[in-house]
Amino acid sequence: MMINHAAKEFLKNISGGNVRFDEPMSRHTSLRVGGTADFFAEPDSLEALVDIVKWTSAKSIPYLIIGGGSNLLVRDNGIRGLVISLKKCLNCITDNRRNDIFVEVSAGAGVNLQRLCFFAMNKGLEGMNFALGIPGSVGGAIVMNAGTEHGFMEKVLDSVNVLMTDGKIEKIDKTNIDFSYRELALKLEQNKGAVNRSSNRSSNRSIIISGKFLFTRNEPAKLKKEAESMLGARNRKQPTNLPSAGCFFRNPQSGMTAGELIDRAGLKGKIVGGARISMKHANFIINRDNASAADIIALMEEAQERVDKHFNIFLEPEVKIVGE
Ligand SMILES: Cc1cc2nc3c(=O)[nH]c(=O)nc-3n(C[C@H](O)[C@H](O)[C@H](O)COP(=O)(O)OP(=O)(O)OC[C@H]3O[C@@H](n4cnc5c(N)ncnc54)[C@H](O)[C@@H]3O)c2cc1C
Repeated sequence: MMINHAAKEFLKNISGGNVRFDEPMSRHTSLRVGGTADFFAEPDSLEALVDIVKWTSAKSIPYLIIGGGSNLLVRDNGIRGLVISLKKCLNCITDNRRNDIFVEVSAGAGVNLQRLCFFAMNKGLEGMNFALGIPGSVGGAIVMNAGTEHGFMEKVLDSVNVLMTDGKIEKIDKTNIDFSYRELALKLEQNKGAVNRSSNRSSNRSIIISGKFLFTRNEPAKLKKEAESMLGARNRKQPTNLPSAGCFFRNPQSGMTAGELIDRAGLKGKIVGGARISMKHANFIINRDNASAADIIALMEEAQERVDKHFNIFLEPEVKIVGE
């Protein structure tokens, strides 16, 4: 994309915008691969975020929001347009008693998900332990309806605040959110009932800026004990010492998991370039040695072909694949 001088100057001068140019996306994704983004902004306030979003929308410049980059594969030729990272803004957590049973907790989209888990646990608020060990941000976890065998975001989320491209903020209650496996769809007032879906197949330009959660009360010591056991089990099952994006494929609706299918298709340990299908968990593609995005995509395609051939099941990626 041609970035003209005026556009660069405008972005550089947005107060608190922290805009950089030709930024390697390998620095911002847990897989540690990916080419450069034309522009990369790390706004340090909601105001700076709104200025950037309004400007890019008015200029029809495409943008991609990222949280922790822990579910993203950026292709080797990078991203045309703007990447907006929420790591430096929307970082507040607040709690309020709602009634005798529930405590409301609001968390900004930029809050690290583990920080929210530990905040709840230390205050004796039950509900977030399921997400212990899931990297990334609160915003990313909401968009992905992130979860584990112990629960998922839908269970605890009460409402979200969404920033629209015109700078307006809309609150969406749970009744207007369609949750499904690793995605959600927002019924936005502005779109008059249209659905804004967070799947790989459609673009999602609205930005989640915060979520409100409902937790019940429990003993912090009991929650901590549960947390230790959940984290222990996770570390035994998953390769956590090398870059990855967690489970690469969505599990089929029934039957064997994606990991079991890939294992049975004989691909555990398979290497392409610097990427490898983990020996510990076959649904993890790991960057073992300076992999390129192309190496990872080649492994992904091989897994899809082999599983399709053996079991007649097409594995859909859970990881969002973006860029050129
Ligand atoms: C080691 C490892 C283990 C993992 N284990 C799990 C697990 O157990 N369960 C699980 O569900 N996931 C797991 N994941 C995947 C990942 O951590 C989750 O999907 C996480 O919730 C993504 O959050 P993020 O902030 O990193 O999102 P990103 O990767 O930054 O973004 C993911 C998607 O959400 C969009 N997005 C992000 N923030 C916003 C926002 N505020 N508004 C609008 N769109 C937004 C992005 O554009 C992108 O499409 C794992 C990943 C790793 C590396």
